[in-house]
Amino acid sequence: MLTGAACPVCHTASTVEFLHRENVPVHQHSLLSSRQAARSLTRGVLGMRVCEGCGFVFNSQFDPTLLDYGAAYDNTQSCSPAFDRYLDETVRHLIHERDVQGSRIVEVGCGKGTFLRKLVADPTADNRGVGFDPSYLGAENEFDGRLQFITRFFDGAGLTLAPNVVLCRHVIEHVERPVEFLQTIAAALRATGSTSARVFFETPCIEWILRNQVVWDFFYEHCSLFSAASLAATFRRAGFDVRQVTHLFGGQYLWLEANWTRDVQQQAGTAGSAAEPGLVPELAAQFVAAESAQLAAWTEQAGRLRRQGRVALWGGGAKGVTFANLVDPAAELISAVVDVNPQKQGKFLPGTGHPLIAPAELDSLGISSALVLNSNYINEIRATLCQAGSSVTAIDLMAQIECQSLS
Ligand SMILES: [Zn+2]
Repeated sequence: MLTGAACPVCHTASTVEFLHRENVPVHQHSLLSSRQAARSLTRGVLGMRVCEGCGFVFNSQFDPTLLDYGAAYDNTQSCSPAFDRYLDETVRHLIHERDVQGSRIVEVGCGKGTFLRKLVADPTADNRGVGFDPSYLGAENEFDGRLQFITRFFDGAGLTLAPNVVLCRHVIEHVERPVEFLQTIAAALRATGSTSARVFFETPCIEWILRNQVVWDFFYEHCSLFSAASLAATFRRAGFDVRQVTHLFGGQYLWLEANWTRDVQQQAGTAGSAAEPGLVPELAAQFVAAESAQLAAWTEQAGRLRRQGRVALWGGGAKGVTFANLVDPAAELISAVVDVNPQKQGKFLPGTGHPLIAPAELDSLGISSALVLNSNYINEIRATLCQAGSSVTAIDLMAQIECQSLS
């Protein structure tokens, strides 16, 4: 657990708490088999602070001992065709525009292995891969051993190949001390005998969250949130040579490319790490000023829709869990939460205990409207409802935010 409120990245003491939430469920992706188990899930405190030195955002109340990323943790998003297409585009980009071919790839935090499997499965690319994740379930070896999975956190042990590509998607935001995490990866690379590696990281963009007033994108698992500048500064501090940071997935994610070389790494710590906070402190202040009015508006809207018919929420992932816990903690307004991941259907939403259902169940449960939290999925959801002949109306809450901020 972090002691004090100094920035874990640049160590300045000048940090400001801009968001405080008590009793938030620590996990958003646990598969819970009863309403009671869902409601009695371990809870923690969000005390999100912004660093005025480098713009890094972190939860100073974060306690990693509360978390358990075991086999009951399922954050698979590839059940959604829109998300699966996004993964395919990223794989194509790596293979054809970044020449990840004939490579020895390590993926740190590979989840159920979907992304790494795509990179190794491409017959033209001739890649080998090793994925590390404590929540991995499945075969240890695939493709005649070209793809291997190791069911634990990545610590360098167990690697028999010297990787020249390191992937890490949606992991660093779960890590309390990101500079030290990157240094651990660098030390592990050195231990394998690797002399250089290209490094690709993906993580949410804090500026996108703040600018778009996405109140459901602050949750316990994400203790470290980056802007493009603070992400680059973090990597430079750990001795990596940052090539570029771009935005993906409609601006929601950052994609960082860096190089690690053994010789440069040995000089880490002396590397210049000048950082600027950019607009993040100002955006955080604007965010918090509007947050309670935004939550009140959604609660009022959910109540109004409920008086017209039963209401569902679409998506039982982190966004859905956070929204439900903020807007309907007692499970009185929202009747059910839809999720396309079959592993989640029949289970209960962490924290609130809303039942998780399949899209096909909406009409039989008498649902008349479904709240959608991510505009990237609205077309897919409307198409799903239309094809099923459903009378449910999908409501894009993010489009409403955009309308409000334009007016
Ligand atoms: Zn800082």
